[in-house]
Amino acid sequence: MSFKNFPMVPRVIFGRGSFNQLNEVLAPKRLGLNAPFIFLVDDVFKNNAWLTSRIQLSYDDRIIFVSADEEPKTSQVDNLVEDIILKSKQRPSGIIGIGGGTLLDLAKAVSILITNEGHAQDYQGWDLVKSKALYHVGIPTISGTGSEVSRTTVLTGPEKKLGINSDFTPFDQVILDSELSKGVLKDQWFFTGMDCYIHCVESLTGTYLNAFSESYGNMALDLCKQIFLEDNLSEIESQEKLMMASWHGGMSIVYSQVGVAHAMSYGLSYLLGTKHGIGNCIVFDHLEEFYPEGVKLFKQMKAKHNIILPQGLCADLSDSDFNVMIKVALSLEPLWENALGKNWKKTITPEKLKTLYQKM
Ligand code: NAD
Ligand code: ZN
Repeated sequence: MSFKNFPMVPRVIFGRGSFNQLNEVLAPKRLGLNAPFIFLVDDVFKNNAWLTSRIQLSYDDRIIFVSADEEPKTSQVDNLVEDIILKSKQRPSGIIGIGGGTLLDLAKAVSILITNEGHAQDYQGWDLVKSKALYHVGIPTISGTGSEVSRTTVLTGPEKKLGINSDFTPFDQVILDSELSKGVLKDQWFFTGMDCYIHCVESLTGTYLNAFSESYGNMALDLCKQIFLEDNLSEIESQEKLMMASWHGGMSIVYSQVGVAHAMSYGLSYLLGTKHGIGNCIVFDHLEEFYPEGVKLFKQMKAKHNIILPQGLCADLSDSDFNVMIKVALSLEPLWENALGKNWKKTITPEKLKTLYQKM
């Protein structure tokens, strides 16, 4: 048996207000006057001087505002890379992603594609990246995806929605400043937070589970229960704990896998553009059969926070639409194997998935 040798984020700053240290963190990493830092920032912060005024631009440094309305696409990564290469006198010093999973994943992918030739879609899969990525920094402004620690960047390409999973994907530096998440709207807070909760459930009940994943998963799960089911946390405590839950949940799946909700949610997202957080919630709500305890608790959390999930998403879909979703979901074999074991194909058939999708 050979054991996987996973990379981890080598440097992390944690603390409310730590975003103020960004410039001093970056300064020693500058490669030259003509090698800019490129800041990919969620455009929700476009007119937010509280955040942007603290990004000190020197020489040719640039902020590129990017909308998170849609999840990252391989073509979007290619366009960003082309724009950055064309407009920079030299290869940049680094890419800094500021935002949620969407911006973090874009920053990771762009930093890989600047040092690796070809197109983003060429690298969707496992361990296809050849060269070290450009120095890249992740600064989450909403918590839950675990993208800040993971070794993947999830992209929708012309043929599939699949991550660039590689040893070069994880950030070189992360800054965890919970104050940046203070403006998140309630529903979005819940959906992205539930991504973390679902990571825990899928990891902890999976066949890939081991003591490494279990310890991180239990820590994250315990934090999620405090945040989403109890009333005794202050807003600041809740934001800080969710930031750490996201981190631990992400660490838990580094050494295991996600499961049924993620596989099926990728299908929804590929066909309908349903975003990851809400898509996971829509799917998970119907997965009692696979995760009885986890779904029961999820429903309690949903009720406590008055979250109404969209219904009838698949009501008007054609057979070929269902087939597209089913194909995407079934292609994620490690997720099914983690969820149900090596013989998962005995229980999970296209018909079974169609019946489940029809409920959503
Ligand atoms: P997101 O980045 O898509 O953002 C969701 C919404 O919240 C957006 O409208 C955004 O503008 C807004 N927002 C973000 N920060 C805010 C703030 N501080 N104040 C107000 N609004 C704010 O959401 P997400 O759920 O964090 O990320 C989803 C993405 O993450 C998907 O593309 C998914 O595939 C990816 N993902 C990646 C991994 C990984 O390991 N790489 C894991 C899970 C999910
Ligand atoms: Zn997820």
